[in-house]
Amino acid sequence: DYNFSLPISARDEIGELNQSIMELSGELKHYRTEREEFLAEISHELRTPITYIRGYADVLQQTSVKDEDRRKYLRFIREAADRLHRLIGDLYDMSKLDQVKVQIDKQEMDLVPFIRQMREEQMERFMEKGIDLQDDLPSTPVRVQADRNRLAQVIMNLLENARKYTPEGGSVRIRLSKEQREALIQIQDTGIGIPDSELPHIWRRFYRVEKSRSRDYGGAGLGLSIAKRIIELHDGTITVNSKEGIGTTFLIRLPLE
Ligand code: ADP
Repeated sequence: DYNFSLPISARDEIGELNQSIMELSGELKHYRTEREEFLAEISHELRTPITYIRGYADVLQQTSVKDEDRRKYLRFIREAADRLHRLIGDLYDMSKLDQVKVQIDKQEMDLVPFIRQMREEQMERFMEKGIDLQDDLPSTPVRVQADRNRLAQVIMNLLENARKYTPEGGSVRIRLSKEQREALIQIQDTGIGIPDSELPHIWRRFYRVEKSRSRDYGGAGLGLSIAKRIIELHDGTITVNSKEGIGTTFLIRLPLE
């Protein structure tokens, strides 16, 4: 155990040292449990799709399976494999982003055509679900220093969440504006929203609101923690406003060039 202390008054140097050691040991303990929880979650997340794949593969080996069921089970297997693939991609990203010296390749860019293009690329997917995707862009350039691919990854992720958590007939808006010395990107949806009590936690790894409900939507709860890390590497901030049953808005602020 890390709990040790010296019977010396906190006034002198040894006392101070003792204080620091105690604080450090507390931190270490916290870090250790966090890492253990993290590994436990990863194993669980990896195991679930594998269980599916195994189970349906077993069923498919039986000769009595009807053709239409066969197709359905193959689809389940495919979906579970896709989920594993995404999860491993996220984990890889996360471990890379955790390194002290992350390579992010910042270059000057104008956010206006960038956001316009992202919206155009995503339109189709939104239309398929009967969700209206609009953008709202200023008429003058909004220049920032950013890693184009990383930023695209963040926006895609937020758009994908907006699509996932918004029912048919809803709308999603991506807005770009300038605020004093910052560029502001807002991704606003008319979806299911996030309860107040859950809001502070959504940035945590593997965190999903009401786990069982979110499980129907797929996703491992890594997207937002990765997004946060990427935006922080750009010296920006990412925040959220949400009302349950009304909708959610994610706000990204990046320093202007
Ligand atoms: P996931 O892969 O589960 O979507 P994220 O890290 O991207 O993981 O998001 C964490 C959780 O935050 C989600 O499981 C969901 O419960 C909630 N969430 C994220 N975006 C939205 C949104 N636009 N509307 C409602 N809930 C959201």
